[in-house]
Amino acid sequence: MTTPRVAVCWDVDGTLLHGGTVGRDVLADAFTAVTGHPAPMESVAMGGRTDWLIGEALRDALPDEDAAAFRGDDFGHAVIAAVTDQWGRRAGDLAAVARTMPGIPETVAALAADPDVVQTLTTGNVRVGARAKLTAVGLADGPIDLGLGGYGEGPGARVRVVEQARDALAGRYGTAPIMVVVGDTPLDVEAAHRGGAVAVGVATGRSSAAELRASGAEHVFDDLADPGRLVAVVRSAREDRHAAEPGR
Ligand SMILES: [Mg+2]
Repeated sequence: MTTPRVAVCWDVDGTLLHGGTVGRDVLADAFTAVTGHPAPMESVAMGGRTDWLIGEALRDALPDEDAAAFRGDDFGHAVIAAVTDQWGRRAGDLAAVARTMPGIPETVAALAADPDVVQTLTTGNVRVGARAKLTAVGLADGPIDLGLGGYGEGPGARVRVVEQARDALAGRYGTAPIMVVVGDTPLDVEAAHRGGAVAVGVATGRSSAAELRASGAEHVFDDLADPGRLVAVVRSAREDRHAAEPGR
C-alpha cells in the first residue's frame, strides 16, 4: 500500500453540502429525548461546532435549575446516542433538500485522480449523520473515505476531530500524511491549526471570506466552483513540506 502524502479532510455542512434543516431537527429532537425540554435552538450557534458541543451549548442555554440535572460526560454520550438514533429515522428526509456546494463533485473527482491524495472527513457530525448527508448527495461511496476521518462524537474542542483523523490516517498508513482541512467557519480554521494542519476556508457556509481570512486560514476561496483551486492548494502543501524536509 502506498502512503498518500496529502490528506484532504473535508468539513461537511456548508463546505461539501447544504442539508436544509434536517440536521437541526435531529439535534433538537435528540436534545428533547434526553432532557425532556424543548431545545433552545435559537440561543445556540451551530456552525463549526461538533454535535457533542452543540448538545452542551443547548443544555447551558436552559434555565440553571433545568440544566443542573445534565452534567458531565454521561450527558454528552446520551445526546450522541440520541442523535445517532434520530438519524436512523430521518436520513431519508435529506434526499429532497440536500445539495452539494458549487464545484464539489468536480473537486472531489479532481483530487481523486491524484494517487498521492487521500480524502476523508473532519466533521462535527456524528458518523451516521455524516454518512446520511453524503449519501443524499451521492458522495458516500466514492473517493471520500468515511472509514478514516474524525467525527463530533466525543468531548472536547473541535481540534479533537482533527486529531482523530490524524490517528486514523496514521493507523492505516503508518505515518500521517500532510493534512489539509477544508471548512466554512473560523472554528474549522482554529481546529486545523491546533491540530497541525493547513487550513482552507471556503465561504459557502455561514462565514464570509473576510472572516475566514481574519481567522488565519492559509487559503480562502469564495467557493470551489473551479476544481483547480484545491488541486493547487494540495500541490503547494506538498511542495512546502518537500522543501522543509532536511537533506532533500
Ligand atoms: Mg461547516
